[in-house]
Amino acid sequence: MAYTRVTQLKSDNNEAENQCGILQSPIDSMAAAQCTYDTVLPILEAGNGMSSKASVLGNLYVLVRTRRRFEGRSETFLLNLLCVGGGLIHRRLRPLFALGFCLDLRHNVPMSTRFSFDLFATSGKARTGLITTPRGEIRTPAFMPVGTAATVKAMMPESVRATGADILLGNTYHLMLRPTAERINVLGGLHRFMNWNRPILTDSGGFQVMSLAGLRKMSEEGVVFKSHIDGSRHELSPERSMEIQRLLGSDIVMALDECTPFGATEAEVIDSMRLSMRWAKRSRDAFGDRPGYALFGIQQGSVFEEQRAESAARLRDIGFDGYAVGGLAVGEGQKIMFEVLDYAPDMLPFQKPRYLMGVGKPSDIVGAVKRGIDMMDCVLPSRSGRTGQAFTRRGVVNIKNSRHQNDPRPLDELCHCPACQNYSRAYLHHVFRASEMISGMLLTWHNLHYFQELMANMREAITQDRFDVFEKVFRAEHAEGDIEPV
Ligand SMILES: [Zn+2]
Repeated sequence: MAYTRVTQLKSDNNEAENQCGILQSPIDSMAAAQCTYDTVLPILEAGNGMSSKASVLGNLYVLVRTRRRFEGRSETFLLNLLCVGGGLIHRRLRPLFALGFCLDLRHNVPMSTRFSFDLFATSGKARTGLITTPRGEIRTPAFMPVGTAATVKAMMPESVRATGADILLGNTYHLMLRPTAERINVLGGLHRFMNWNRPILTDSGGFQVMSLAGLRKMSEEGVVFKSHIDGSRHELSPERSMEIQRLLGSDIVMALDECTPFGATEAEVIDSMRLSMRWAKRSRDAFGDRPGYALFGIQQGSVFEEQRAESAARLRDIGFDGYAVGGLAVGEGQKIMFEVLDYAPDMLPFQKPRYLMGVGKPSDIVGAVKRGIDMMDCVLPSRSGRTGQAFTRRGVVNIKNSRHQNDPRPLDELCHCPACQNYSRAYLHHVFRASEMISGMLLTWHNLHYFQELMANMREAITQDRFDVFEKVFRAEHAEGDIEPV
């Protein structure tokens, strides 16, 4: 039962609970957990002491409520009250009352239109918690597979979900050019368009304008660029980025920033970071007040601690629903990235989600979580899947290597993904060599499964306050290397 689970985990960590504030109400939790008959009935049974008039009113209210949406917290409170009142309803009518209530919840999610983040436990600096959005929960630390052009390449959305993903990332730059945000909006938004009804985070488009578009011109206003697809001219400003992400229906929206390249001088970093902070304020203003949707600010400052601190302070002043550490994973290497992560996340509010953009390899992810990061995204598991690379507990396996051509064993005998359950290394090697589509499909599935399992194992280790043990085992298994050839 969602309520019990959430409160139990919370009471396990009073410090985190105090710092994170609001407890979810039972109703919020039920909505988030796609409430069931069994969840509601005990609450009805618990009701005592209200008049029969109240129970009649309760029934009427539920009837009226059916097929209408909840919009505010006052109604959530009313329903709490009516649930208690339901206890006086005649015993034989209670199941009907509960059933109607469940159907109502199922058809009228969201009960709560809030975006919220609750921390459950910490282990060292590593944290585990839950982001609640009207479209579903995101367990943190979370890995977000990248669905660049409204698809995680080689995967059906239900298969992505089956690997354990709670949220996807969509790329604003690609979608604004093709098929365009306006077209997706007319067709019902990105969730419906790509058949993924859970949360979606979109980037601002800025990073890919810088890395993919031809002929760019930056100014205080924004950036003008030519499409890499057809050379057409486009503009991206903080206001336009907010508009595009709203048209897409993105649940977590990123502020527009300039990703400072690695190697920039401190003077260049200061100029770039301050421009990003002015854009952050304009993004915040243009985003407006949208209950249930979140806007994340992005910390810049490259590898300079003082600039990271200034950036964080400016973002905190503006106020965001979550904070990203930007400007990393841009060629600086793991050692320097970890040095920055040793201090950068600590500068961001403790009680808000922290997102490290564009990371990374499994060892990057473990190191980032160790340093207090809650969310990450990377194309690595899907892109590598298409180029014959598989991530396993014992490191990277290159399936194109001829050592696999007679190997009847699975990629990883402990993995429960379809590629490992039903196919041999020899088969995976063959279909890769033959350029068969199933090669990319199976290896992508395996890789996404591996990444999600890694996240699940970290969440469990943090909950049990043994992240250091987890990390030791992770490193030891990787150090072993792949199994001996047959
Ligand atoms: Zn597998």
